[in-house]
Amino acid sequence: MARRDYYDVLGVKKNASPDELKRAFRALALKYHPDRNAGDADAERHFREVAEAWGVVGDPEKRARYDRLGPLFTDSGRPPSSDQINDMLRETFGGLFRRRRAEGPGEDLTYTITIVLEEAARGVERTLVVQRQVRCVRCDGTGDHPENRIPCASCGGSGKSATRRLFRSECVACDGKGYKPTSKCDRCNGEKRVPLEESLRVKVPAGVATGSKLRLRQKGNDTPPVVGIPPGVTGDLYVLVNVEEHALFRRRGPDLLCEVPVTLPDLALGADVVVPTLEGTTTIRVPPGTPSGKSFRLPGRGLPGEAGKGDLHVRLDIETPSLLSPEARAALLAFSTATVGASHPRRAEFQDALKARR
Ligand SMILES: [Zn+2]
Ligand SMILES: [Zn+2]
Repeated sequence: MARRDYYDVLGVKKNASPDELKRAFRALALKYHPDRNAGDADAERHFREVAEAWGVVGDPEKRARYDRLGPLFTDSGRPPSSDQINDMLRETFGGLFRRRRAEGPGEDLTYTITIVLEEAARGVERTLVVQRQVRCVRCDGTGDHPENRIPCASCGGSGKSATRRLFRSECVACDGKGYKPTSKCDRCNGEKRVPLEESLRVKVPAGVATGSKLRLRQKGNDTPPVVGIPPGVTGDLYVLVNVEEHALFRRRGPDLLCEVPVTLPDLALGADVVVPTLEGTTTIRVPPGTPSGKSFRLPGRGLPGEAGKGDLHVRLDIETPSLLSPEARAALLAFSTATVGASHPRRAEFQDALKARR
């Protein structure tokens, strides 16, 4: 077969500029690219012709020789190989025709669990019932009915192309599957994935706080399958932890704060005050004359943290009685008249400062 003139193949004049040549090659290569013309032998022949022409006139040195020799020109006697064409396309188009190697990862899933502070302190295990999208095993993720398949006539069911084709060795008629689907899978209804309810044991480590995120690798969704592409990584499952507010404790990092209401006699006379801990209760001995708002530190009674266990801070606050029986009222009045100046040194100091201003 006589070789066509390379300029005719690209549809440009002999004196076309390198830019014009490149534009013409680009347009024709896009038009006849095998990825866009699957199974079209005519398009593939055109594509090879265009690639061969560009391989010569796209190269200034070869173009000069071709212009001088015309039909006598030989370019090493061989048309460009598929690899050479691919290199040419990469140079001209960048990543436009880069084929996907594998699917992306499946979707991640997020579930929230709510635990109480005591569980956050010592760690806890929970069973989580999750719904994941997994690859359909009935059709192996193809989406078609496995019993209603017709063998592919082009490749005889092998899925392989009879001749080594440009870019791909799979049969283009069946996309390498070896058969033609005729109906949807009766399990996934063509969705390729099916919902699966799964019970998962979740280990919540000691010391978690609200907002802590636990990751269960590959317990999210499977990737939506694509024929001919290896499956991607299954997504992850994230468990968001929510720690309930506690009636007695507030949290500051690994430390716990607890406010304990006491009476004036408790602090003035001294008392044994029962205070809560995460495990139960304990008693602190309050010495006589303890000021209101005083904090007591109970080391190691907090939550596990990075630098070991936190502390429990107990703060004692006087509750002023708002309801007084006649007896209590009389007793308080008697107390008031019985106290001497030295009983309230801070108040005496304050009164002196007030007087000094006048
Ligand atoms: Zn086939
Ligand atoms: Zn299926």
